Amino acid sequence: MSDRHQVVVIGSGFGGLFGAKALKRADVDVTMIAKTTHHLFQPLLYQVATGILSQGEIAPPTREVLHKQKNATVLLGEVTDIDLEARTVTSQLLGRPTTVSYDSLIVAAGAGQSYFGNDHFAEFAPGMKSIDDALELRGRIFGSFELAELAAQRGESFEHLLTFVVVGAGPTGVELAGQIAELARRTLKRDFKHIRTEHARVILVDAAPQVLPPFGAKLGEKTKVALEKLGIDVVLGAMVTNVDERGLEWKFKDGRVERIESVTKIWAAGVSASPLGKTLSEQTGAPLDRAGRISVNPDLTLPGHPEVFVVGDMINLDHLPGVAQVAIQGAKHAAKEIERRLEGKPSAGPFKYFDKGSMATISRFRAVASIGNLKLTGFVAWLMWLVVHLFYITGFKNRVTAVMHWFVSFLGSDRAERTTTLQQIFGRSALERLEGGASSLVSPPGQYDAERAAADETRRKELEEQAAEEVRLTDAGERGVHQPA
Ligand SMILES: Cc1cc2nc3c(=O)[nH]c(=O)nc-3n(C[C@H](O)[C@H](O)[C@H](O)COP(=O)(O)OP(=O)(O)OC[C@H]3O[C@@H](n4cnc5c(N)ncnc54)[C@H](O)[C@@H]3O)c2cc1C
Repeated sequence: MSDRHQVVVIGSGFGGLFGAKALKRADVDVTMIAKTTHHLFQPLLYQVATGILSQGEIAPPTREVLHKQKNATVLLGEVTDIDLEARTVTSQLLGRPTTVSYDSLIVAAGAGQSYFGNDHFAEFAPGMKSIDDALELRGRIFGSFELAELAAQRGESFEHLLTFVVVGAGPTGVELAGQIAELARRTLKRDFKHIRTEHARVILVDAAPQVLPPFGAKLGEKTKVALEKLGIDVVLGAMVTNVDERGLEWKFKDGRVERIESVTKIWAAGVSASPLGKTLSEQTGAPLDRAGRISVNPDLTLPGHPEVFVVGDMINLDHLPGVAQVAIQGAKHAAKEIERRLEGKPSAGPFKYFDKGSMATISRFRAVASIGNLKLTGFVAWLMWLVVHLFYITGFKNRVTAVMHWFVSFLGSDRAERTTTLQQIFGRSALERLEGGASSLVSPPGQYDAERAAADETRRKELEEQAAEEVRLTDAGERGVHQPA
């Protein structure tokens, strides 16, 4: 470690990556610690799940993205502890702990899926927060059509296999439902002999009274109509109360309960901030809201710890939404503040968020966009969506291949990324059944070397004994002497 100011950045998502990059010219050493080796462009996860894009296109290796940044080091590991007193961050990778000291810390660990206290739903209704999630969903979605074909051929019922339920009518839910409908009605309809994929039922359900609540009532209603035109059933004001292997149940405000038989359920409702928020809250007394987001000072610092910035999905400040721009702009603000302090300049003051608007696709050539007072729907909004997403995808080669895949899917009717494997579908459940998770599949640090040293010692002794026996036989003149049977 050099004598320079040490900045540790937790997370390689929007906050983490943009924070590290913003410190490129600063006189500091940056260590980015994240639990994945990639930066993830979450807004396009639904396209990986539905076979449009490959995972590599939306998840470039962080190491590659930062390889030209001389002052940046990337460390793989899940941060398990932050010691604000000692100013250290401890991470774990397959049972190998690492502790790093910091002078300044940017915490950008994001948020995970929330099942609102019903974590057991996750077994049958995976969320969509990571590449693993998207690939599992891809396997489940395409696999469901396969199982339906098999059931039809065997003369068994298959409606539950061709019923897809997306829980949560926010942008992710709307985009997923739209793409599953297009998959069934366009992409797959020529590929199966015993089922009519275009008859697949896609249901979008939400406890809220409208779709896309952050976009306002008017755009919400237009989106609902567009989804229904695609043949999607939109069920609003319905709270999901149970999920099992074969289906799910929801309850309306008037107490009515409905059950739908569906094998493929997707959870796109609710987020819960990284548990690191709790670690910080316990040490500072800064309150957490119901989603586990921590209250920070207006300049994004942790109360009582001006050297620690928390940004992105983890924070509860002025009702800022959990969107990429909040994380990006927050991380840039934190980086600037660190630089100003090092240059002896006064603070630039509170973090000011500039809302660049929101957009969501409904299907190919159709999107909704809300930018200030401007409300757009249809093809123009879709074109805007295309340009904005292309701009923010990290890396030139990823942009080029994404455009090629969009041509295949939007102008044609194919999907370039339909490969699925059993490991993708069942890997999560299998790992969850292991007590120590993936760590229990590899030797603890040092064990392999110790075992090999012990084996080498045993082998050395055997060879020595053999050599001694050879010497004895030679000295005794017994070599070559015929031994009677
Ligand atoms: C499916 C989906 C679609 C979305 N669509 C949009 C959209 O269209 N527009 C939009 O603006 N926003 C969208 N969002 C929200 C947006 O992606 C988030 O607001 C944004 O990613 C938040 O950035 P962040 O840096 O706070 O967290 P993330 O980008 O989630 O990054 C968190 C990082 O921390 C790492 N991490 C977590 N815990 C640890 C730990 N303990 N140790 C080490 N590393 C850790 C993670 O691996 C990750 O690298 C979407 C989100 C999802 C899930």
